[in-house]
Amino acid sequence: MTVRSRRAIALAVVLLALIGLGGPARGALSDYYLSAGSGTNVFAVRFAGTMNSTWRGFLQSGISAWNSTYSQTGTLISTTTGSTTKSLQLGALPSGTIGRYQYGGTRADRTFVITVDAQQIINSPQRVSSVAKWAKFTAMHELGHALSLKDNPSTSSASIMKYKPMGWAGVYGSPRAYDKNAVASIY
Ligand SMILES: [Zn+2]
Repeated sequence: MTVRSRRAIALAVVLLALIGLGGPARGALSDYYLSAGSGTNVFAVRFAGTMNSTWRGFLQSGISAWNSTYSQTGTLISTTTGSTTKSLQLGALPSGTIGRYQYGGTRADRTFVITVDAQQIINSPQRVSSVAKWAKFTAMHELGHALSLKDNPSTSSASIMKYKPMGWAGVYGSPRAYDKNAVASIY
């Protein structure tokens, strides 16, 4: 199976960020839609590989942040120790990259592996906000890809899928209105 990679979050890019941006706005579908996402926003994931309870908690908080949008988006991401082709793991990524969404299969039967580089998050001298916040944000962002959101949508609204709103002060703790509107419009 061919596994392709989406562009991951690069800390170096994040650092160039400006504070920003306006209220919620709806763009055209092409502004945010990623066909590499899952065909449904109700699915189960499992934690793969070696992961201590602290990091499991960080990644779980990213999942929970999306589940908190259920009333608006219908998103329900459960976790299982059973069989599923959707997983989150910790692992080493290329320098400057803290998260990656790799996918395979078809949209109707999507497989994906989200990898978070804990060491780069811990070690980053640019990580001003806490490890927990960055880890949560990274999981939320990569799950955004699983929910059919692409990087850097062409909107001036705040979005967890954009690099620009993330500045020195920290990162978003939950999906923004734009993100929720986008997911709601897809599913
Ligand atoms: Zn991304």
